[in-house]
Formats: sequence, structure tokens, C-alpha cells
Amino acid sequence: MSSVILVKHPLVSDRLRTLRDRETSTELFRRALRELGLILAVEATRHLSTRETTVVTPLGVEARVEEVDSSRCLLVPVLRAGLGFLDCFLEFLPRARVAHVGVARNHDTLEAEVYLSSVPLNAMEYDHVFILDPMLATGNSSVKVLELLQLRGYSPGRVVLVCGFAVEAGITQVCLKFPGVRIVTAAIDPELNDLGYIVPGLGDAGDRLYLL
Ligand code: URA
Repeated sequence: MSSVILVKHPLVSDRLRTLRDRETSTELFRRALRELGLILAVEATRHLSTRETTVVTPLGVEARVEEVDSSRCLLVPVLRAGLGFLDCFLEFLPRARVAHVGVARNHDTLEAEVYLSSVPLNAMEYDHVFILDPMLATGNSSVKVLELLQLRGYSPGRVVLVCGFAVEAGITQVCLKFPGVRIVTAAIDPELNDLGYIVPGLGDAGDRLYLL
């Protein structure tokens, strides 16, 4: 069973406001996306496996503690906009492996196609996979990335798809094709326009991040 987590928090609402506003400068857009990514990273990593260990506190007393082995996490930023969340996840998972994936629409077939991938083949070395894609619109690019991961041996139950904005159509497509995937998002918007943009959304996330 897939699950969809809509993260509700006053700070999330405030960063969504900044991101949606077309008057927001590139500098403030980057900052708001980064801050949103940090909050989403906390929620997305809620089910991370931990290992029990002990430390000695300054009082000379042994305490039972838990630690995370972030080297067993794979971060998959989907180019370009997914890069906006990458540092947020690395902040909490400093030893995570990063596999960049590029997906673009083929101008002839209009199908989403993977044009770049560094997804490692040693799937058994990773317990958790986080696909970073701020915009879950039609779901076509997420499906391509999930297909690629599955082909390489990553089961959907290990995958969290992290978005800032999503629409029902995209969520439904992903959940139907990949039951077991968890989706974490900050907003579920009503619809897509004819060009596949989320409405009201924030426009083209990649352009707003990288084109001054
Ligand atoms: N990608 C974007 O950058 N924006 C959208 O609204 C949809 C997909």
C-alpha cells in the first residue's frame, strides 16, 4: 500500500507562499525551497532504520542511544529542480550516496525519457531511497525514475518520493503503478494546465531556481 503524507506546518505554509509568489526573487526562492526541503527531509526520514549503541555521557554514565547509518541511504535528485532539495537531505544524511537522474520529454513521442542516470547497481547496499522532485505533476517523470530503480533492484517499498507540490493525477498514477512507495508533499494543488504545469503551483521550478 502506498501512503501520501501531506506535511502541514505554519512554516511550510509560509515557505509555500514565498515559492508561489511570482514577485519572489531567485535568491529568496532558493532560500524558501531549501527551508521547505529541510522540513520535508525530517518527515521523509521518519522511518529510517536506526542501530542501538551506547555512549558514555559527561557524567561518566553509560546511555543507550540510537544512530543512523546514512551510508545506507540513496538520494536521487531529479534534474533540474530536485537539486534544490539535495543539500537539505545531505545535511541530515551526510554519508548518503547521490544518484542524479535526468528526465526530459521526447519532442517526437512526447514521452518522458531518462537521458542521464547514475543509479548504482548494488541495490542491496541501500535500505532507503529518496527521490527528490519538487513538482509531482503528471507523474510521468516519477514513474520513469521508479521504473529505472525497480529495474536496478530497488523495491518500491524502500522508496520515498519527496515533492513540494503535487496534484491528484500524478499521485494516483504513481500509487497505482508502484504500490508501496511513500509520497511526502507540502501541497496538493487542484489541477494541471494544458502544458502540464501545476495550477496554481509555482511555475517552472528549474527556471525559478537557476535562471536569474
Ligand atoms: N515542473 C515544474 O517545474 N512545474 C510544474 O508546475 C510542473 C512540473
